[in-house]
Amino acid sequence: MNSPFWNLGRLRRTVQILLLLLTVYGGLLVGPYLADKLSTAFPSLSCIYDQQNSAYCVLRPLQHQLNHRVGESIARLGEVTLEAFRPLLFTFLSFFAFFIVLNKAFCGWVCPLGTVQEMLYRLGRRLGLVAHALVPPRLYQLRAGKWLLLFLLVFLLPLLAGLGMIPGIAGDPYCQICPARLITTLLTASTEEMAVSTQGGLAFAFAAIRNLLFGFTLVAALTVRQPFCRICPMLALHAIFRRFSLLQLVKTPHDNCGHCSLCTRACPMDIPEISGKDPQRAFSEDCTLCGRCAEFCPNDQVISLRFGPMTLFASSKHYFSHRSRTEKPDGTPRLCTEREKPGNQPP
Ligand code: SF4
Ligand code: SF4
Ligand code: SF4
Repeated sequence: MNSPFWNLGRLRRTVQILLLLLTVYGGLLVGPYLADKLSTAFPSLSCIYDQQNSAYCVLRPLQHQLNHRVGESIARLGEVTLEAFRPLLFTFLSFFAFFIVLNKAFCGWVCPLGTVQEMLYRLGRRLGLVAHALVPPRLYQLRAGKWLLLFLLVFLLPLLAGLGMIPGIAGDPYCQICPARLITTLLTASTEEMAVSTQGGLAFAFAAIRNLLFGFTLVAALTVRQPFCRICPMLALHAIFRRFSLLQLVKTPHDNCGHCSLCTRACPMDIPEISGKDPQRAFSEDCTLCGRCAEFCPNDQVISLRFGPMTLFASSKHYFSHRSRTEKPDGTPRLCTEREKPGNQPP
């Protein structure tokens, strides 16, 4: 990992790009039959509206089950049978298996929307666009936004649509406004999802919000790290189960820690708790398990990424001194001189 070519950041970027290709174009690779089977077995990859993907995002089956299974069954009183709940149970079981193994690493290593936002931010840094240093503390109130969207758009409205209390088009409200739906389909050269429907006010409103969120995400990502992630309900959903996940971010108390805040500056979600003194709070609800805090912490073994009892990566002085030669914690690339290149230093 200390090689100038293979640091954790490069490894993660390679994984993200491969998975971006798989989640956007996977259906082309494995064919529609296998793509359909994969979607059932591995339900948390990409957007269902992308006709070429290999699987689909877990938020869609959740909304679908609450709308068509739970809501409609309750509406047909007396028909709440195992038949109605079996698909729901299946969705939840596969969902838990996925969440226990990967959990928040889905955001830091897999999600196509997360990857595109990171690529745009890197582009913004290269173009020298002014970026914020840190998100002001009051903006942390945005943290509540993702919980609100999860409750309203993924659980409540689909259920109410199933009960027949609101129009059917509100059966998958999160998918109606999700910017990933536009980003992934545009990557396959389909502009269909950009169309703003004129068939009814709600359809129009959903399409308008989707396009606005998409535009905002693209523009904001050039100067702010992961703008959409801050209100994404998937982040909240993962946060509920993060303590049960095999993958964890672990912080060990250290005398020299708490002053430099390099970890918070390196964090794409600007998480203040990671540089705090309380190790219990370090693995925040907003963490995406990207590992940048561990890469940019200059102290040995203070921050680590663990899979069960196994340490996958831990901070170290040596790694930090290599890593910080090519990039600043905030993501700005450093142009190193020949003399500064790893391996060229005087003994
Ligand atoms: S928070 Fe949402 S948009 Fe961001 S990486 Fe996670 S799933 Fe993707
Ligand atoms: S970078 Fe390391 S030493 Fe500095 S505040 Fe963060 S955890 Fe502590
Ligand atoms: S706390 Fe660390 S692992 Fe979590 S998002 Fe921030 S930098 Fe990534």
